[in-house]
Amino acid sequence: MSAARARSTPGAVYDAHCTRCPRLAAFLERTRREHPDYFAHPVPSFGAARPRILIVGLAPGMHGANRTGRPFTGDHAGILLYRTLHEAGLATGAVSHSARDRLRLLNTRIANAVKCVPPANRPSPVEIRRCNAFLAAEIHELSQVAVYLALGRVAHAAVLMALGLSSGRYPFAHGREHRLDATHWLLDSYHCSRYNTATRRLTPAMFEAVLSRACERAGLPHPGRAAG
Ligand code: SF4
Repeated sequence: MSAARARSTPGAVYDAHCTRCPRLAAFLERTRREHPDYFAHPVPSFGAARPRILIVGLAPGMHGANRTGRPFTGDHAGILLYRTLHEAGLATGAVSHSARDRLRLLNTRIANAVKCVPPANRPSPVEIRRCNAFLAAEIHELSQVAVYLALGRVAHAAVLMALGLSSGRYPFAHGREHRLDATHWLLDSYHCSRYNTATRRLTPAMFEAVLSRACERAGLPHPGRAAG
């Protein structure tokens, strides 16, 4: 087994009724009362069953994934993500409307470091560690993945934790490419949050460049490179 899959053990990759984190479970229960039309459960990963690229975000947004039940769907953070995936040939459409639309991801899957919406968008370290068991199990199942694309520091650390690798050896930096072993890469990007895009900490061009590199590392064609 390669170093980049060493820690993972087989197990459940999703439990819609998980309540291992009491604070998050209570928050979800309150959300279900206040917003009966919201999904308001742990949000499952979305995308190809045998992806080459696994994108890892932070956690469901309160009125986005927590509402719709699909990662990065229904809030600002998903706008740049899905549009760029579409431009890169990794999604069948540029907009993710709802968990019931016909959008498909190609060679790509999206997971979150934490599957339940955290208050103020801030999961605690212990919640991140608890939910990492699900991410580790998912990574173990996804044996074709060549590139882990971490959106932000928390996701970066969560991927390394799931792989049993030291974050000291692989420091986060936007655009950085970490070679994990002969066949696996970890690429870093700033998270495509409203704050980061509004302040232009992350521009569309910056994100397109990272995704293009992810395609290249994964051995996938990228429309933006076709002419060059
Ligand atoms: S964050 Fe993860 S571990 Fe915690 S309750 Fe939700 S699904 Fe379970």
